[in-house]
Amino acid sequence: MTGPAHRAEIVVDLAAVRHNVRILKDLVSVDGPVQLMVVVKADGYGHGMVEVAAAARDAGADWLGVATLDEALALRAAGDHGPLLCWLTATGDDYAAGVAAGVELTAYSVAELEEIAAVGGARVQLKVDTGLSRGGAARDDWPAFFAAAAALEDAGRITVTGLWSHFVASDEPAHPANDAQEAAFREALALAEEAGLEPEVTHLANSAATLLRPSSHFDLVRCGIATYGLDPAPGTSPRIGLRPAMTVRARLVMSKAIAAGEGVSYGHTWYAGEDTTVGLVPVGYGEGVPRAAGNTASVWVEDSLRPIRGRVCMDQLVVDLHGELPRPGTEVVLFGPGDLGEPTAQDWAEAVDTISYEIVTRIGGRLVRRHVDAEVEGTTR
Ligand SMILES: *Cc1c(COP(=O)(O)O)cnc(C)c1O
Repeated sequence: MTGPAHRAEIVVDLAAVRHNVRILKDLVSVDGPVQLMVVVKADGYGHGMVEVAAAARDAGADWLGVATLDEALALRAAGDHGPLLCWLTATGDDYAAGVAAGVELTAYSVAELEEIAAVGGARVQLKVDTGLSRGGAARDDWPAFFAAAAALEDAGRITVTGLWSHFVASDEPAHPANDAQEAAFREALALAEEAGLEPEVTHLANSAATLLRPSSHFDLVRCGIATYGLDPAPGTSPRIGLRPAMTVRARLVMSKAIAAGEGVSYGHTWYAGEDTTVGLVPVGYGEGVPRAAGNTASVWVEDSLRPIRGRVCMDQLVVDLHGELPRPGTEVVLFGPGDLGEPTAQDWAEAVDTISYEIVTRIGGRLVRRHVDAEVEGTTR
């Protein structure tokens, strides 16, 4: 195996992204024509928004989804022209630029509908809050919200293209919010119909609901984390053959012996219980490695798991090499698909009590991100 091309890097396998998109498309096509939206917000969950978007479209993604209008406009600037929804606009955003670029906007309120309508020609999706108590029109406001949308549509000032909502706990299939939200969403659909709206797409499911709750698929599913090959509901999801797309690796800076009783890293939160060797890995919280990984997570060096000892620093961390002295430059894999036994983003999430989403989205800083295509290059790493 060749070492990393850089001191420390993120390698994203676009073939894995395409593979995951195809699996998800096949999964939702079983019961009829359901469209797939691939969610590429937050720089593609840290994987590179533009590259992931192109790979997803290649593999058949019908839609792309982003949070902010800036993200949507960046996709257009990069040459993406397909159906694209953004959902976190705010008063004062440049709606005209979004409409000119063919971006579908999401409205949460009558005031926002009116602001968008002022631009003229907008394609708008309506978001209803079915229980998350985050964005979207509150239940009491649905009749007025739908009436306003229908009136603006009748006046030719907007086209209402979608109606949607978002789950609270789809990663916990037995959570009572799931049934309640799906029922509330159906109620919203009925009210919208009564108001005379005929949205082209209605949607509720994120990755976990796509895998675990077919009744919530409606016309379209919005998949983020599953596209990147990570499990949206660890321990609960069916195994459908998703492949993690991200590998984070570095080159060892040095290795050396330390004696029993010596402390490692700031504050000496770990002391060697016996003589051992340690290795210096040139990544730290400046690269988005969680500081909480000190004394909890492990990395992969020379075919073995090597625990992080002591605190993770801004630029570096120290691992226990258990008596071995690998050469400087030796490959260190922080996490990857897990094929060789290396930790996965899910392993890191468990080590620091978070979710894999946060691990991959926050990793970055000075790391160089490189895209590879295992199908084309014949190499996955
Ligand atoms: C981020 C996001 C998604 C994707 O969620 P995953 O759990 O990553 O599939 C879907 N819908 C909305 C509204 C989101 O904000």
